[in-house]
Amino acid sequence: MSTVVPISPDEAAGLADEFESRPAEDLVRWTAERFGDRAVLTCSWQKQSSVLVHMLSEVAPGLRVVEFDTGLLFPETYDTRKRLIERYPIKFERIEPELTVEGQAAAHGDRLWERDPDACCGMRKVAPLEQALRGMDAWITGIRREQSTTRQNARKIEVDDRRGVVKVQPLADWTSRDVWRYIWRHGIPYNTLHDHGYPSIGCVPCTTSVNGTHADERAGRWRGTGKIECGLHGR
Ligand code: SF4
Repeated sequence: MSTVVPISPDEAAGLADEFESRPAEDLVRWTAERFGDRAVLTCSWQKQSSVLVHMLSEVAPGLRVVEFDTGLLFPETYDTRKRLIERYPIKFERIEPELTVEGQAAAHGDRLWERDPDACCGMRKVAPLEQALRGMDAWITGIRREQSTTRQNARKIEVDDRRGVVKVQPLADWTSRDVWRYIWRHGIPYNTLHDHGYPSIGCVPCTTSVNGTHADERAGRWRGTGKIECGLHGR
């Protein structure tokens, strides 16, 4: 993974200003034109992934797409994956952790997520991401400001200087309602857990439903642990 960021923070800020009022499609198209095969969309099979996979298929179908499989995803998530792969002629590249769930239990003890979720996320999420970003200049994510307080200042274009990439966040200003409107308008397959009290969906052991009273979409993730991000988007 390069640690030289391909654009300066000043250029990123200027571009973020320029794209703030423009449609998400424009930013996806620009990313493909500017970075080509050095850009990657990462996919977690949540509702934002449904939107971005569809959008990419329309405006930049050749862009690299990477999906992560921690081995601990919900059956509904695997079903979403299957339906999206069937529908879109996109090549999804799958990256898995170095250790299987069983291998991790043998090496680090059973149910590591209960004792040290940061270490578990480090092995099952962060390391695969860093593998995906190796040699890349731009990383397209589905982050939205509305999702949580940790994301409320997200810009459409940011510099991730630790990883040496430009983060491109075409949906940063989208509300949950915008996401659903797009999914329904285009009839896009989506993760049905969203219909059952799961506004944000990760691994089975660390995701619970919320009753709809939470302002924070990510309230059901790592509930009761104080952890709110898996380390993919933290600094
Ligand atoms: S979300 Fe939980 S189970 Fe999944 S990688 Fe992180 S700690 Fe492990």
